[in-house]
Amino acid sequence: MAASIIDGKQIAADVRAEVAAEVKKMQAAGGPTPGLAVVLVGEDPASQVYVNNKDKACQEVGFNSFKHELPADTSEEDLLALVEELNGREDVHGILVQLPLPGHIDAERVLMAISPDKDVDGFHPMNVGRLAVGAPVFVSCTPAGVIELLKRSGAELEGADAVVVGRSNIVGKPVALLLLQENCTVTICHSRTKDLAAVCRGADVLVAAVGVPEMIKGDWVKEGATVIDVGINRTDDGLVGDVEFEAAAERARAITPVPGGVGPMTIAMLLKNTLLAAELASRDR
Ligand code: NDP
Repeated sequence: MAASIIDGKQIAADVRAEVAAEVKKMQAAGGPTPGLAVVLVGEDPASQVYVNNKDKACQEVGFNSFKHELPADTSEEDLLALVEELNGREDVHGILVQLPLPGHIDAERVLMAISPDKDVDGFHPMNVGRLAVGAPVFVSCTPAGVIELLKRSGAELEGADAVVVGRSNIVGKPVALLLLQENCTVTICHSRTKDLAAVCRGADVLVAAVGVPEMIKGDWVKEGATVIDVGINRTDDGLVGDVEFEAAAERARAITPVPGGVGPMTIAMLLKNTLLAAELASRDR
């Protein structure tokens, strides 16, 4: 195997340690303790795990964590009232409403109700717009994690040919905008792309966010490319990514594994966003 493996677990731990150090500095300077409110509606087991992991991560870096667990039959009005209350609280700098929400609640309406200044998930149209015009503030966590992995693994982004496979609003599109922000020449591919293999072969930086196990073949990877595999696919052989890992690693300069690549970065970037929200709030005061 020629490629170096980009260790997302280690990089996420580094980011968390940096955030924890910043919290101490901020407190020593008389600043606030960052606070994250996580709202869970219903008892979806996967969501419960995510929410507990976020809660634990907050405590580890010295944040205040406010967990709100509401019953599945909570009305949209009650949820909006909670968001409004959290918007107004000075000790809450970030608000995260765990998705998916139960079917009777309009998720779009709830996400829109979160103050853009506390939208640490980066899903509010204001923050999506800020990214689109090249002035990002809160960038959604998985795309931000992709860029962090690229930078910390020494990928040369300035002027690089970057190919993003996938154009979803939560991964592909924001990753592409962030790569553009880093001065890459960006191509976005999707299910109607004509010759995907040929486009991928031109990529210095290849990001796969498709959701199809190992569809990006090893020989689609340019020699010396950096490959970030966002895909998480459950198969009979366990979790696999969107990239044929072993074969791609023969050609790439560096590549993320699945699991242990992009996955661990998401919560780390959520902490970074919450720290930023607390910093911005204390500056405004
Ligand atoms: P979506 O299903 O929303 O989007 C998939 C994208 O891939 C679409 O743009 C689609 O094209 C494109 N696509 C599908 N099939 C093909 C094909 N054969 N050739 C080319 N393009 C294709 O997925 P998400 O963006 O939400 O997620 C992508 C992957 O990332 C999933 O495996 C998901 O589990 C994972 N993920 C991981 C996260 C993490 O690590 N924390 C967070 C979020 C997602 P079109 O638009 O034309 O339909």
